[in-house]
Amino acid sequence: MNKQMVVGRVRDLEQRTKVLRQQAGSNGSQNDDDTLWMSSLDIIGELLSMVEELVGESENVGDKMQLACPNCRSVVAVSYDAVADAAVDCPACGATMLLTNPT
Ligand SMILES: [Zn+2]
Repeated sequence: MNKQMVVGRVRDLEQRTKVLRQQAGSNGSQNDDDTLWMSSLDIIGELLSMVEELVGESENVGDKMQLACPNCRSVVAVSYDAVADAAVDCPACGATMLLTNPT
């Protein structure tokens, strides 16, 4: 799921929430309250599934950064936990890569 898809789905939910608010404001009869309630549950459910998807994706790709080995040029995925340790061994050539931020 890319960023534009997320923005599009959020916009859609915003629009549906807006319609619900207008309906809730314009008529206050009991029968319509049930419909409004179910519609708002729909929106909440969709929002939750979207958040679930986002969290699932960030677990797959979000905890690693790509580094190029200065010795053999192979690209290595290093977890941010390892970055905190300042150095990691290249799995291709065994050279030690320094991960400390020079700033
Ligand atoms: Zn290497």
